[in-house]
Amino acid sequence: MADCVFCKIIAGEIPAAKLVETDKVVSFLDANPVNPGHALIVPRRHASSFLDLQQNELHVMIFVARRVAAAVTEATGSPAFNILQNDGEAAGQIVDHCHMHVIPRAPEDGFSLGWRQLSYQEGELEALQEAIRRRL
Ligand code: AMP
Repeated sequence: MADCVFCKIIAGEIPAAKLVETDKVVSFLDANPVNPGHALIVPRRHASSFLDLQQNELHVMIFVARRVAAAVTEATGSPAFNILQNDGEAAGQIVDHCHMHVIPRAPEDGFSLGWRQLSYQEGELEALQEAIRRRL
């Protein structure tokens, strides 16, 4: 994609601190990290959504994410990490080329995902379970 920043990084047209390159996937440091060492894993082929990825791309992405998470946490001395993938604008996706975030975490690092815990109405959970299972 001509105007995709990640496609340009993959093609070497704009600089990035690359960590891993395979035939399917590239990983590099996020230029504006949540914490130092925050890394991204992206498929070489331009695809907007996780749902657009092929099985062989998904396999490599998850294995590279594991390798990168181990290396990033060791290099930064971080005791924890988040793996995130924002899919769609409403979920916070800004760059329209699917990517996974590996974010090293430490106690009191000042970052919060703002997690919340709602409750289901009577029967709602079961209805959703059935609706989802029908589509799998
Ligand atoms: P998302 O909100 O999930 O789409 O995240 C996009 C991420 O890409 C952000 O964390 C940005 O800091 C990062 N990013 C955008 N442009 C670049 C770039 N040229 N090099 C490295 N990271 C980038």
